Amino acid sequence: SYFKELGLAEPILRALQEKGYTEPSPIQRQAIPALMDGRDILGIAQTGTGKTAAFSLPSLHRLANDPKPRQAAGCRMLVLSPTRELAAQIAENIRGYALFLNLSVQCIFGGVPAGKQAKKLVPGCDILVATPGRLLDLIDQRALTLRNVEIFVLDEADQMMDLGFIKPLTRVANLLPEKRQSLFFSATMPQAIANLGKRFIKNPVKVEV
Ligand code: AMP
Repeated sequence: SYFKELGLAEPILRALQEKGYTEPSPIQRQAIPALMDGRDILGIAQTGTGKTAAFSLPSLHRLANDPKPRQAAGCRMLVLSPTRELAAQIAENIRGYALFLNLSVQCIFGGVPAGKQAKKLVPGCDILVATPGRLLDLIDQRALTLRNVEIFVLDEADQMMDLGFIKPLTRVANLLPEKRQSLFFSATMPQAIANLGKRFIKNPVKVEV
């Protein structure tokens, strides 16, 4: 398949085959090669375009090719999503793509007791999908650290802004390691969102669908 030409690891290709994906979507074609090269990405794309696989597949490839022991309360990839529904959906998708990889995926969001979620984070995980408020709560409780993050994804930046997440996001930005890969997605890119993006991404490849 064309996914194979993109150079994705065999266990990922197998998962895609199982899901019945034959061809990459336009955003996947644009984003996957740049992300596999380690570049930052500024993406203008809506839900339904295959955005989740566009950022997940090359990230899983990079994590799987550079295995590292789990760090207590840490994660190697952080995906921030504005709502619990979207966060849960992203985590579910990533679990499917990672079916044949030895990578652990956790998801945390508000509206449920934090204690149970804190417990899930104790051994550390490879990929964490989170909403900003609960993420910061768990960091404040010392149940989570961002010091091991290698790949950071900010999804639905315009919704984040509408929901008043600017301050929390600024805090997150200050806690992330300087050396990392950053991916920034928004359905729209007004100046205020572009300015927010500048805090997270460096010299990005722009993709738009
Ligand atoms: P997303 O925009 O990430 O929410 O994806 C929208 C839907 O398209 C999800 O149900 C995915 O499972 C599906 N999808 C993503 N990429 C592909 C692909 N290359 N081929 C077929 N379905 C896909």
